[in-house]
Amino acid sequence: MDLAPTDLLTDLYIGGKAVPAADGGRFDVLDPATGELITTVADAAVPDALAAVDAAAAAAPGWAATAPRERAEILRRAFEIMTAEAEDYARLITLENGKALADARGETTYAAEFFRWYAEEAVRVTGSVSTAPSGANRIVVTHQPVGVCVLVTPWNFPAAMATRKIAPALAAGCTVILKPASDTPLTALAMARTLERAGVPAGVVNVLPGRRSGAIVSAMLHDPRVRKLSFTGSTEVGRILLKEAADQVVNCSMELGGNAPFVVFADADLDAAVDGAMLAKMRNGGEACTAANRLYVEQPIAAEFSRRLTERMRALVVGPGLDEHNDVGPLVNAEAVAKVHELVEDAVAAGAQVTTGGSALERPGYYYQPTVLTDVPAGAALLREEIFGPVAPVVTFSGEDEAVELANTTEYGLVAYIYTSDLARGMRVSERVEAGMIGLNRGLVSDPAAPFGGVKQSGIGREGGHEGVLDYTESKYIATQW
Ligand code: NAP
Repeated sequence: MDLAPTDLLTDLYIGGKAVPAADGGRFDVLDPATGELITTVADAAVPDALAAVDAAAAAAPGWAATAPRERAEILRRAFEIMTAEAEDYARLITLENGKALADARGETTYAAEFFRWYAEEAVRVTGSVSTAPSGANRIVVTHQPVGVCVLVTPWNFPAAMATRKIAPALAAGCTVILKPASDTPLTALAMARTLERAGVPAGVVNVLPGRRSGAIVSAMLHDPRVRKLSFTGSTEVGRILLKEAADQVVNCSMELGGNAPFVVFADADLDAAVDGAMLAKMRNGGEACTAANRLYVEQPIAAEFSRRLTERMRALVVGPGLDEHNDVGPLVNAEAVAKVHELVEDAVAAGAQVTTGGSALERPGYYYQPTVLTDVPAGAALLREEIFGPVAPVVTFSGEDEAVELANTTEYGLVAYIYTSDLARGMRVSERVEAGMIGLNRGLVSDPAAPFGGVKQSGIGREGGHEGVLDYTESKYIATQW
């Protein structure tokens, strides 16, 4: 892969071919580090979306009938190619998303691991045989590919959110149409080439960049050949798509927004808690659904925790992600900076104290200073909404019950972090907190081998682990006797 925009795939990728949009439309992809144009990309229209469904539907029977071992070996080759080209991928992710190179390298490894994990899972989609309780017959259960899948991904992890869907779908024997976010379509298009070189047959993976996302996704969800939608993005758009999917009763997996509490009890190892908070808050510059959004610290250690966190946040170097010296890159676009600043101003107006940061950087590109807020009042908007930026609000609490109550005061339930040196308390609080995932004395939970997903309005279904591949299958039950 070459990073020169002229060598990148910038058309739609349908049926194994790069094609322009039916109406010739194109849109701009900007570099968040400077605000300048990187390149333009074909802007899919409804006829392109239907052409992608044609291609995926035509390839579906052949791919479903391909031996699991062969599908596994293709996924394994995709892992090997992506790993060999990891540095190119990391630079491309940073170029279009902005994140610091270290974060982009971490994402590339994580993304490639989904190909490896699902290469291993492709040959382990087992069913079951049992005797009916009446003894009259056998119950045979198999898992069949669900069929043509529409995959819609966000801009914050342009590679990993795509592989977390493509790999299990292909392992299960499904064909896919990937609609990447318009801010970051280039990584997804590069992946189409990687998969082609790994041996994925034409039509099995189609990539459909397009800014007319509502129209093209709706057209696909109303085509009866589409049987599955896997969406990662905001809860707001997730709700719209669940309604759209209802018309044809399309099977849905939803990875939506988060509002992660980060709870530190007074008995926690303070060094570990501050390290964990930095990781949970600042991975991806704060632009992660798993980002620690609300830091709840038990009263006796709150001042010391805030002091150490402030020191660490102040020491971070902010600047273009492609420069190795920078710890934190720009946010994805100008609206993201405006939204983060609005949330900080709202909290400050309500009485929060800024201990470091608190404003955007005056330079081209979309930069926001790493910020710590203390004394954040309960009603502040940033405790309810996803911040999606480098801002850490600290709130104090007293005792286990108050910690649990605060952690659960949200319609979200993706992940929660808990720091304590009392393991029994850690497990007890883990059970009481309403979240699909818990980081217990850990600031990072994402792992391709583990089921990732949320409860409440953070989503439906799980990605990763063995559950991830089952999400792309339908159980079939055969009643028989012999
Ligand atoms: P978003 O605005 O919801 O967009 C996500 C995707 O949906 C993009 O591809 C977008 O395309 C598309 N889209 C937007 N409106 C649509 C519509 N009406 N119909 C069909 N598709 C539509 O989210 P985002 O800003 O890209 O990503 C940030 C959000 O993702 C955050 O809420 C974050 O928490 C969540 N997220 C969740 C997870 C998880 O695993 N739970 C992981 C990562 C991110 P365009 O770009 O063309 O608008």
